[in-house]
Amino acid sequence: MTPASRRHFARIGAGFVACVSLAACGGISQQQEVEMGAQEAQQVNAQLPMLQDATINAYVNSLGNQLARTTSRADLDWHFAVVNTDVINAFALPGGYVYVNRGVLSHASNESELAGVLAHEIEHVVRRHSVKQMEQVNNANIGVALACTLTNVCNNQVTQAAIQVGGSAYFAKNSRADEVQADEGGFNTVMRAGINPRGMLTFFDKLLAEEQQSGGSNTISWFADHPGTQDRIADIQRMLNANAGRLNGLRTDSQAFQSMKRRLAQLPPAPRTSSGN
Ligand SMILES: [Zn+2]
Repeated sequence: MTPASRRHFARIGAGFVACVSLAACGGISQQQEVEMGAQEAQQVNAQLPMLQDATINAYVNSLGNQLARTTSRADLDWHFAVVNTDVINAFALPGGYVYVNRGVLSHASNESELAGVLAHEIEHVVRRHSVKQMEQVNNANIGVALACTLTNVCNNQVTQAAIQVGGSAYFAKNSRADEVQADEGGFNTVMRAGINPRGMLTFFDKLLAEEQQSGGSNTISWFADHPGTQDRIADIQRMLNANAGRLNGLRTDSQAFQSMKRRLAQLPPAPRTSSGN
């Protein structure tokens, strides 16, 4: 994939939501949130190349649910899915739909690293970050709440109009504050699930090294969609230090993770995106 097409494809970060009726968008209830998430998920599943491998999906769902069940939103019906692209990224939709790209699975060396990514996205849902953005827009009386960075989905008149009204940049990224919250909440989630949160740090370090090796020309989309990397690494290190005594005995890896990796390596390579630029 060219850097340009990687960037293009990487814009799957935030998903797509449009509140058809302004009145319906007021305080968004959990039921509304779940309905919007389900609708978005349908779009995402239809528009993105999803990894259709029952064994790998079962593993990712099992790990994701282990994590999500420890959170304050254990009551949600959580769904985890793998997008079949080597781009390193992950994103979450409202209501408990978490997507992780194949590139994360192939770059993660142990379960702790993958758990860190999943737990970070889970925390965005737990904290209702995207829902709060929608509510803010509604309060500003813009009338359309939009999180449209999924190019193919936006190829229709309704969403094009919505972009003009709402401005897609508003939703393009979670704020730095949201990212720090997602890291901190994710860190605690990983620990509650009995997994060593050090993987959050080692995965970050790995991505940074790769980013630097490429001379910054090959920006890993994770960093574009998840701002404030250096601060976040320092924050995770601080939490690791503060919890040093509690990390012994937490698992870093599992046989299930390693057999997922072996299976992944045997699959045909991820398709190159046909989205052009
Ligand atoms: Zn994030």
